[in-house]
Amino acid sequence: MIQADRVTRTTCPYCGVGCTLELHVKQNFIYKVTSPFDSPVNHGNLCVKGRFGYDFIYHPNRITTPMARRYLLQNDYQGALWKTRYHAPELGNRSLTNGNDSPTPWDWVETDWETALNLAADRLTHIYQRDGSDAMAVYCCAKATNEDNYVLQKMFRALFRTNNVDHCTRLCHAGSVVALQQSLGTSAMSNTASQVMLNDVFIVTGSNTTENHPIIALQMKAAVRKRGAKMIVVDPRRIELVDFAELWLPLKPGTNVPLFSAMAHVIVKENLVNWDFVRTRTEGFEGYVESLEKFTPEYAEAICDVPAENIRQAARLYATAKNAAIYWGMGISQLSHGTASALSLVHLALLTGHIGRDGTGLNPLRGQNNVQGASDMGAMPFHYPGYMLVDREENAVQWERLWKVEPGGLSRKLGLTTTEILEHAHEGGVRALYIMGENPMMTEPNLNRTRQHIEQLEFLVVQDLFLNETGVYADVFLPAASFAEKDGTFTNTDRRVQRVRAAHPPRGQARPDWQIVCDLAKRIEARLGRPTSAGWDYAHPEQILREVAQVNLDYAGITYERIEKVGLQYPAPTLDYPGTPTLFTETFPRGRGRFIPLDYVPVMEQADDEFPFILTTGRVLEHWHGGTMTRHSVIDQVYPEARVEIHPADAEIHGIRDGDPVRVRSRRGEVVLRASVTEKTTVGVVFIPFHFVEAAANLLTNDALDPQAKIPEFKACAVQIFPARETDLPNPEAILRRGRY
Ligand code: SF4
Repeated sequence: MIQADRVTRTTCPYCGVGCTLELHVKQNFIYKVTSPFDSPVNHGNLCVKGRFGYDFIYHPNRITTPMARRYLLQNDYQGALWKTRYHAPELGNRSLTNGNDSPTPWDWVETDWETALNLAADRLTHIYQRDGSDAMAVYCCAKATNEDNYVLQKMFRALFRTNNVDHCTRLCHAGSVVALQQSLGTSAMSNTASQVMLNDVFIVTGSNTTENHPIIALQMKAAVRKRGAKMIVVDPRRIELVDFAELWLPLKPGTNVPLFSAMAHVIVKENLVNWDFVRTRTEGFEGYVESLEKFTPEYAEAICDVPAENIRQAARLYATAKNAAIYWGMGISQLSHGTASALSLVHLALLTGHIGRDGTGLNPLRGQNNVQGASDMGAMPFHYPGYMLVDREENAVQWERLWKVEPGGLSRKLGLTTTEILEHAHEGGVRALYIMGENPMMTEPNLNRTRQHIEQLEFLVVQDLFLNETGVYADVFLPAASFAEKDGTFTNTDRRVQRVRAAHPPRGQARPDWQIVCDLAKRIEARLGRPTSAGWDYAHPEQILREVAQVNLDYAGITYERIEKVGLQYPAPTLDYPGTPTLFTETFPRGRGRFIPLDYVPVMEQADDEFPFILTTGRVLEHWHGGTMTRHSVIDQVYPEARVEIHPADAEIHGIRDGDPVRVRSRRGEVVLRASVTEKTTVGVVFIPFHFVEAAANLLTNDALDPQAKIPEFKACAVQIFPARETDLPNPEAILRRGRY
């Protein structure tokens, strides 16, 4: 038996549950992961990703040396033009060491940190001084720590004076964030995930919790089995939780608003409203009730394909429970009306008063490990850290003081969102983009268009572990430390701020993200000749968190010492505040909860004769997002290729058997992959996970945006599906080498 040199307690780098890990280290190599029973988040349980998905740290493809394109090292900026003219990413992965081809300006050249950072600082400063703030943009990272994200958004705001700062929250829960902000005045999960054990009834909707938040799904199943709680699943797919549910409402994708509004209609008509709560804690009830008139269960049935009687039953169960809660995922928010979709859930809680108490609440299950924290740290175009609007003078003044920016120096203009940043990548628009740890060439919708946009950038810096589908378009690559090689904090889905700890030093020359950013920021600051420094000399990430807490008062009471063992749930406004497991016990941040009348807006693309199926996309248990980590892990062997799920009735009509290669085509692109014939999906609906470059689901998805939240419609687009040949199946290695789809 191996004796560990040390065991490092830290937090899982995958989903928003935020499980506690113990990394067992021998000779600077993690050989085993366990979890302590005293963790209030996961009580010793881990899913397959947390338990086995750490070996990407040692994968031979990991980049651990800074790299720059040859044209930069030769000071040949004309060489950059070559990139666009010849679609250089086709050659983009070729390093100087592996080819006999004659060198091109676009070859990668390994270099040292000094050179790579100076090149990045020179080009970023040059573009900023030439084209101004609007030419600069940054993608922060929901996988990186709070401290990493804080310093990166600070660099772009304080030095480049732009709010073109965003991250993948835009692509997952932006609809939920806007809905909760509009109605309640804040966007975080209201309760603690483990409070599901206090629920008498709970709704799970738009969330395949078993695969996306496995440890929360364990608790949901325990609530049903041990406490007799009643679960209502509202989802187009027959997900595993349906086996435990009292009711399953298999609605058509994108029809949440009529279904949940019909439940509200029943609650009002049958006088199941919590009148005391509505009178004392809400506003806008009368206008809202008028708007509900048409949403009868029969009207909803005609749109959603869910029997009216089942809608009535769900409404009665939820409204009459002592404690009821709603848990939702991206099936609610990833729609061109994602804000309305999430508001339809908020209304149910306001009507019944199932909010503001333990065992109730509105609980958007956040996707990535630190999407909550990255949002809290201001990695968004409309907010400084702490959700302080950038266009409010009093907010800007506070951050100007902290960052020693001259009065009026910070931009008051709302920035561009992730999808908008790429749409603006053209002459006169965004010219320089900095991407820390995100992979838009897998995660943006309509990837063929995304690729065209990214090719138009003048300068792209990528900071990551691997040269992934986005990295092949970069001009400078900065190798980052993994979660197990750095210190910091993550904030999980229920607002628990937890420690991240280095188990061993970074591989090769890789460095923690916050150190890379601060080192680069100092060089940019020197080139810009600013009279004062915004401050980049942090000895340890704890100093960064203390800086955040000076203005973002939700974090004011959080120190590394206080979160040493089990973390702390914000808001924690003072150093002796015990944390906040349940929000809104007395009031909402905006005062009263607001009802907002809704109308039914269909998804942008309906199935028709030409494109007869609706495609919905999502994750599987074994993989994570664009696959940068899990596809470099041993767990890739458990789920090694993309599959499209199709219902047996549809498969029979189209002559498709389980395992057959099929071609799936939308109005924007096509992929070839194997079919999985399964009753997990419903008739007329097919499902593809979005982790696989060889059959990238986002080649098919629609880039139509929700007008308020700017979130794309990943959850519904029209597709064709027909048999293909074995030889049509693509080779993922060849695709990645080409850097193209
Ligand atoms: Fe990690 Fe999420 Fe799995 Fe927990 S449930 S081990 S946080 S991936």
